[in-house]
Amino acid sequence: MTWSALDLRVFILINGVMGCLMALVLYSQSRSYPKSIHGLREWATAYLLAFFATVLYGLQNTLHPLITVGLANVLLLLTGAYALAGAAALHGRVLPSWLFPALLCFSVPAFAWLSTDRTYYHYRLTIICVALPAMLLWQAVIIGRFGDRKLGANLSLVVLVGLSAVMLLRAYTAVASPLPIGLYANSPMQAIYLGSLNFGLLLSAIGAILMASERLHIELGQLASKDSLTNAYTRRALFELGENEIARCKRHGTALAALMLDLDHFKRINDTHGHPVGDKVLIDFVQRVQGVLRRPVILGRYGGEEFLVLLPDTGREDALLAAERIRQCNTSETGLPVCTVSVGVACLGDPQTDSLTALIGRADAGLYRAKQMGRNRVEEAVSPGA
Ligand code: GH3
Ligand code: MG
Ligand code: MG
Repeated sequence: MTWSALDLRVFILINGVMGCLMALVLYSQSRSYPKSIHGLREWATAYLLAFFATVLYGLQNTLHPLITVGLANVLLLLTGAYALAGAAALHGRVLPSWLFPALLCFSVPAFAWLSTDRTYYHYRLTIICVALPAMLLWQAVIIGRFGDRKLGANLSLVVLVGLSAVMLLRAYTAVASPLPIGLYANSPMQAIYLGSLNFGLLLSAIGAILMASERLHIELGQLASKDSLTNAYTRRALFELGENEIARCKRHGTALAALMLDLDHFKRINDTHGHPVGDKVLIDFVQRVQGVLRRPVILGRYGGEEFLVLLPDTGREDALLAAERIRQCNTSETGLPVCTVSVGVACLGDPQTDSLTALIGRADAGLYRAKQMGRNRVEEAVSPGA
């Protein structure tokens, strides 16, 4: 079988241009996405460098080898380093500060010297095919450990590991049988290597774009479901999660309890100490409640200073105990004004309590009773005829 050098060049050029377009997409994402999503600029830089490296490789025999070979190889290594930096930044990891200086200190003199003679091709190839997989696999470890396990991360993992395998195999063949020489040499292994490198870079750019948009999606979901002041669920999220929980309980016949919490005379805190202090009391209260509820619960902000807790797999006795723990936890040692809390308790299966709205209504009736009976209390609604 013959491998046409012309075809490879065209293929590489097309991939280079696509990579450049991917860099543009990543750059525009970096400008429009929230600041909390990091790494897009690094990735955009990586694919832009890959594009420049491709152009330089394509200009071989036209410009000086120091540029088309030496500089091109340095740019290719920097592509790997910037892509690694992008993955690290997106996942909140910090790379060692020596990475870039070490890479430049080693690669610039090494490739400058190795570009002086055509027959050094296998040394250059071996360096690239060991150093680049090291950075690709490092990237894969970060994505594997800290990624979101969605399409973007999975695609990136497959591409990074696959590309590393091909490159390491190419390094082995370069050492084992150093002929033929040259980037566009007529050999199947070289064609597989160049094809994989270019296609892999393109696919990994798509993986990066997907990972960033998936992260944005997750962040938007969290923004919409969490109350910005207290970080409790919003009322809308509370109803969604509550409906799911009710359906689950009915399916499995398990228990579910609801606690309606309302801070006592909270308006006085605002009036006496000011609204910002009132805000701090609300934040502190939610943290305390989360602290005393040991099992996973659904805690949401039902209204201003009113919160709803859904306790899965919890019967009446345990619900009353949990409510009492909440009532008692609200004595302050933080320097914030003390604010007691009243709690209404209801359980799924109580009289006429078979839906989420009925459960909440009954917990609210219990709360109303607690307020009526003097506040700072835990109460249940009185059943008709009881
Ligand atoms: P009660 O014991 O009957 O519940 O009395 P209360 O004063 O707690 O109840 P009321 O409904 O009269 O007042 C609730 C107050 O909560 C009024 C409102 O300004 C305040 N509030 C609601 N949301 C916030 C908030 O996000 N921050 C602050 N600081 N205050 C809030
Ligand atoms: Mg209140
Ligand atoms: Mg209230």
